[in-house]
Amino acid sequence: MPNSDALEYAKQLVAQSKKITAFTGAGISVDSGIPDFRSEGGLWERYDPHEYATIESFMQNPTKFWTMGREIAETILRAQPNAAHKALANLESDGKLVGVITQNIDNLHQAAGNKLVVELHGNYLRAYCIECNMEYVGDRIHQSVVNGEIPPKCEKCNGVLKSEAILFGEPLPEVAMTKAIEMCRKTDLMLVIGTSLSVYPAAYLPQLAKNSGAKVILVNLEGTNRDSVADIVLRGRATEIVPIIVDYQGPIVYPNQE
Ligand code: NAD
Repeated sequence: MPNSDALEYAKQLVAQSKKITAFTGAGISVDSGIPDFRSEGGLWERYDPHEYATIESFMQNPTKFWTMGREIAETILRAQPNAAHKALANLESDGKLVGVITQNIDNLHQAAGNKLVVELHGNYLRAYCIECNMEYVGDRIHQSVVNGEIPPKCEKCNGVLKSEAILFGEPLPEVAMTKAIEMCRKTDLMLVIGTSLSVYPAAYLPQLAKNSGAKVILVNLEGTNRDSVADIVLRGRATEIVPIIVDYQGPIVYPNQE
């Protein structure tokens, strides 16, 4: 847990700010049971992303992607928002948080109650047919993947389905990126939570907020590539730190213990 002076300063900044933006990564969902991909035992240790998670590899062999996708689906379908997600949702309903920009694909900010969520890397629970573009929303496709229907196929044309989550080599969704940049320019405080800040261009966003005059608080378990952007660095678990700094009074309970 960070020292009490740093926590106190962070609490004051949150209390004084009126247009807070959260920028989140995989670390905020770790205590919901979704491991980040880079840490020991993470997905990239078992599945080489060049082989399993590029758009080229998907187009060549979608079965390979969906074999890994089955594991992702099993994890995401079980996950529930944790105390850090809920604290951010509470901050939005209090009228202080203007929105969340997330690199996550797990839908947990929306499940916690946040209304404005900008998804830079798409959403795993949305899929579309690569032949006819028919869209699929929700967990039905992923349930079928978990049951072994790999790759999942379009009900209309039997084309292969692709999750809307962005693969390496795919461009970021333009509308989301434009919205994220606009939020960074207008915010007075950015809470950067659970990201190694190593995936670009998303990792530049805290710097953009800083250059536009915002304060930056960084909450992460380990050092990141861009700690120097932060006015305050709070090292620790998002579920422990975020509820404290935003003064969230709800229970700090891990979902799998609820
Ligand atoms: P990352 O894996 O590069 O970094 C995660 C960071 O979170 C690490 O620095 C780690 O120290 C920290 N962390 C781990 N547990 C934490 C905790 N309990 N509290 C606070 N910090 C914690 O993740 P990234 O920067 O988001 O980039 C990874 C990419 O992979 C993203 O683009 C995202 O699309 C994807 N991804 C998404 C999910 C998800 O949707 N939940 C999960 C894994 C990966």
